[in-house]
Amino acid sequence: MKPLYLDAASTTPVFPAVVKAMMPFFSQTYGNPSSPHTLGEQALKALNDARTRLARELHAKPQEIIFTSGATESNNLALFGLAHHSKKKKIIVSSIEHASMRAPCDYLRSWGYTIVTLPVNSEGFVDCARLEKEIDDATLLVSVMHANNVVGTLQDIGTIGKLCRKKNILFHTDAAQSFGKHAIDVRAMNVDLLSASAHKIGGPKGVGLLYVREGINLGTVMFGGGQERGIRSGTENVAGAVGFATAIAEVKKKDWKKISRCRDTLMQELEKMGGVVNGSRVYRLANNVHVSFPPVDSEMLVTRLSQKGIYVSTGSACESRGDKEDYVLRALGLGKKEIEGSIRISLWDALSQNEIKQTVNKIKSSLRE
Ligand code: PMP
Repeated sequence: MKPLYLDAASTTPVFPAVVKAMMPFFSQTYGNPSSPHTLGEQALKALNDARTRLARELHAKPQEIIFTSGATESNNLALFGLAHHSKKKKIIVSSIEHASMRAPCDYLRSWGYTIVTLPVNSEGFVDCARLEKEIDDATLLVSVMHANNVVGTLQDIGTIGKLCRKKNILFHTDAAQSFGKHAIDVRAMNVDLLSASAHKIGGPKGVGLLYVREGINLGTVMFGGGQERGIRSGTENVAGAVGFATAIAEVKKKDWKKISRCRDTLMQELEKMGGVVNGSRVYRLANNVHVSFPPVDSEMLVTRLSQKGIYVSTGSACESRGDKEDYVLRALGLGKKEIEGSIRISLWDALSQNEIKQTVNKIKSSLRE
């Protein structure tokens, strides 16, 4: 059997159609979108076409999309773009945000910001009543991620957005894991700022976007030539933007219902083996399986599976690299043994019956070794 890549939450292979769409922008239409000649105009047109296609996906306007280098930059831009000219000094975030939200929030404390971290319940949901209580006149922003990258819990961002709008507070969501897989309508959901990334949906690494609702005054973080409405200077990544827009069209062609059925089968099979599923059963990323096998050492399990050609993860790739960050699982109330014995399987395609069987059997034998 050829190796099975089951780590799509970390990154995904680039769709062939994306590579094809990007190619001309390296060697034929390679102009700088700011140049006044035909090559520049062609590049500008391609960039803005990509912007329009991505905006449409979010029910946003093209001018509300700012291209970035990925969701990390988008999250940082949302925070610092608002924070450096705000009189309000309180930011409310969930306790399970990605490091690219947590780290800048930690830094903002040194600017005098109060960061309120909202607890989540055992399935990973924030408590909206608690959120409502925390919002006051000093609150600048509420940020709650759409889909969690570890356990896959999908927050009800429509309800959170409505609450924030009622209180007249800005609402940002990190949609790096959900964009393209679950429908998002920024207008209907009252989202003011949203981060997304191309490499999670079959696009290239190093390109992302920040949606900024019209009327929001985001300060400049990257000073220079004034590209991206002056908010994010630097020659635009035209090929990347075209790749991102192509990826959003391609990823929607996938049968996500089938992928989520495969996810459910895997969860059932792993439960039969004594695994405990973490996160919500119902409101869950279509491709996420997160399961604990206490008292197994998940790093050992991941290594054994890798040797057998099954590529899964112990947590989120960015975090499992450094000192082990278990804050998401701790926030859900998992104990040490459950945390240490947990693995994440994230699908890019539905598996065949045979592939499911192979995966389950290899996990079973690795647990016994
Ligand atoms: N937010 C979430 C929820 C993520 O999963 C990731 C990627 N692991 C990021 C932000 C960062 O995205 P990027 O790699 O595009 O910077």
